[in-house]
Amino acid sequence: MSRFLSEKFSDLEEYVPGEQPQDIKYIKLNTNESPFEPSQKVIEAINREEISDLRLYCDPDCKKLKAKLAETYSVKPENVFLSNGSDDILNFAFMAYAEKGAVYPDITYGFYQVFAQLHGVNSRIVPLKKDFTIDKDAFKGQTGLVVIANPNAPTGIALKLDEIEELIKSNPKAVVLIDEAYVDFGGESACRLTEKYDNLLVCQTFSKSRSLAGGRLGFAIAHKDIIADLEKIKYSTNPYNINRLTQVAGLATLCDDDYYKENCRKIIENRKFTKIELEKLDFEVLDSKANFVFAKSDKISGQDLYIKLKEKGVLIRHFTNERISEYNRITIGTIKQMKELISKVKEILGEKNENS
Ligand code: PMP
Repeated sequence: MSRFLSEKFSDLEEYVPGEQPQDIKYIKLNTNESPFEPSQKVIEAINREEISDLRLYCDPDCKKLKAKLAETYSVKPENVFLSNGSDDILNFAFMAYAEKGAVYPDITYGFYQVFAQLHGVNSRIVPLKKDFTIDKDAFKGQTGLVVIANPNAPTGIALKLDEIEELIKSNPKAVVLIDEAYVDFGGESACRLTEKYDNLLVCQTFSKSRSLAGGRLGFAIAHKDIIADLEKIKYSTNPYNINRLTQVAGLATLCDDDYYKENCRKIIENRKFTKIELEKLDFEVLDSKANFVFAKSDKISGQDLYIKLKEKGVLIRHFTNERISEYNRITIGTIKQMKELISKVKEILGEKNENS
């Protein structure tokens, strides 16, 4: 830290992203990316002409992409906001709506806490119930911003749509942000409720189900006044925050929806396989509706399993937070990758038996 940094940032604990090793080829099951490449349509769309146009600024309104998203989700373009990954939208939402405070669960996406600190927001942190489900009754009557990841991360557990609607109705004085980064893997989206409630902000991303994590593209669907707030903030920070090639890739992605739906189907199938196989090895595996599972074993600590798998070339995600330190979050990849994971876990448990 330099001696020039504003005092308000001196205690800021920044977000620590999952490891992104650039050297060794791991079986990478640690940051919930898609194991499938983007659609052929994306690969064809990023052509010489588009690359040549990089000399020009991109469309800050993302008109074509917005129109296509509006069509895909049966809303109007005025109900759609696009930004540089959904992290960017979460940041804007904390800026826009959390002056009177923010409320979110204790076990959830770690960036909420970072944004709250970044913007000097008072947070109320609501513990998940013992079974790791969200205690939705504890979220009633809030002001400011309510943030719920649905499905939640890293648990993968989802609330049902009627439970989400209850949450929205019971917080008329707050903006309720539903972070649906993982909704395409079996959750129920609240998108259509945005027609009914002007305090609902639904956030999604192209990073997971649509194989574009490296492209950085997120979107929100909400009442037009909420979208206008977010545009105001975007235009006051960085209007060109979605680069030209990402806009092209996003549009091509939306033109090949069947490809992504089929990929999601495969992930759901592979998730089922992984859960069954881990349970055969006596793991406790939470009921996930996301592209990852959250699992623990009495036979090996969360930390040990993470380290031993890494030594064997498989990267998973371990969190040190005390309440979940015995668990690991394992991204669902191809069936080949998941078979490899299970075989390495068996090896590790076998080695542990021999040594004990
Ligand atoms: N929300 C949740 C719950 C996430 O896990 C992630 C991915 N780390 C994000 C939002 C952000 O995704 P992106 O910025 O890639 O759209």
